[in-house]
Amino acid sequence: MKFNTKTIHGGQEHDKAYGSVMPPIYQTSTYAQSTPGGHKGYEYSRTHNPTRNALENAFASIENGNYGLAFGSGLAAMDAVIKLLKPGDEVVSTNDLYGGSYRLFTKIYADFGIKFHFVGMQNAANIENYINKNTKLIWVETPTNPMMNIIDIKAISKIAKAHNVLLAVDNTFATPYLQLPLDLGADIVMHSATKYLGGHSDVVMGALIVKDKDLADRLYFIQNASGAICGPQDSFLVLRGIKTLHIRMQRHCENGKVVAEYLVNHPKIENVYWPGFKSHPNHNIAKTQMKDFGGMISFTTKGNNYEEAIKIVERLKIFTLAESLGGVESLCGHPASMTHASIPKNEREKIGVVDSLIRLSVGIEDKDDLIADLKQAIG
Ligand SMILES: *Cc1c(COP(=O)(O)O)cnc(C)c1O
Repeated sequence: MKFNTKTIHGGQEHDKAYGSVMPPIYQTSTYAQSTPGGHKGYEYSRTHNPTRNALENAFASIENGNYGLAFGSGLAAMDAVIKLLKPGDEVVSTNDLYGGSYRLFTKIYADFGIKFHFVGMQNAANIENYINKNTKLIWVETPTNPMMNIIDIKAISKIAKAHNVLLAVDNTFATPYLQLPLDLGADIVMHSATKYLGGHSDVVMGALIVKDKDLADRLYFIQNASGAICGPQDSFLVLRGIKTLHIRMQRHCENGKVVAEYLVNHPKIENVYWPGFKSHPNHNIAKTQMKDFGGMISFTTKGNNYEEAIKIVERLKIFTLAESLGGVESLCGHPASMTHASIPKNEREKIGVVDSLIRLSVGIEDKDDLIADLKQAIG
């Protein structure tokens, strides 16, 4: 099955009771047993729920994995991955990272005795310096948030395998429409399904996808034992979102290109970060590992003025000023004061999150309206 068919049919079967084409929302916590242990595969909805299972099968299918797991948020999914580790273990992580991921690592798990190294991974060989006998996990986000750096997943996976270390990739920004980390050698794919997979800014959810059965069993154990699952209604919504992922992504990419090109030619704009530009430092890796370049774009204004950046995001009308990304509607954000406010100023500036940086999640509206909105806001 090809990707554009998998989004609609992958891992799905029609409902056995009445043939409903979409799985029913099994809004139940428990399941009747005829005799102790005499059940139809479902005992309690923290462990399994048929609507959630339908979604988890869809996750596995679209990422070319064998097993999918759904969680109550992207961070809950990450939390389950870190729970594979023990005190004394070390993690090598991308340095330009979703702010909440950084917070989870440094403010929660550092206190549990897990050591994190935040490393620029644009040059994959760089991570070798941070790997030792305690290293158990490499955490990669690509494209990175919000600097849109590109990390070579295949090159990192070769290093991970040579050292017998797990490789997890946060595929939230790219989605499986653009890149398939498991095919490139990753062991775990993670998503904030809140973003492109759900696609309509109406649900918070996380996902993990793996190929290996033992790894899947350990993660299913954590999912059930820690209990950070999502409900059946949310599972239904994300399953519905996935069915249009491919056509939404196609339009996000088309509009993203138009917006990036408008910005790069604008006299008041200093830098535009978008992997589709030939001048992007890792454009060639992006071209190899991604199908297209997506609708996430960051830019800075000349003079790097904090107040001016705030004015621009306030003036934008179709681009709603809001946290999050990946929905049908265009959003804008000011990382220094919003998503990355929890990263100390000197740390965030080291990775390029300066005062005038604005991040756009380009939606699927008409491109002419998006350009007109940017024009009136930037001036
Ligand atoms: C939003 C996001 C997360 C966190 O996901 P939640 O669903 O908000 O918990 C993690 N990584 C990336 C890249 C994100 O954009």
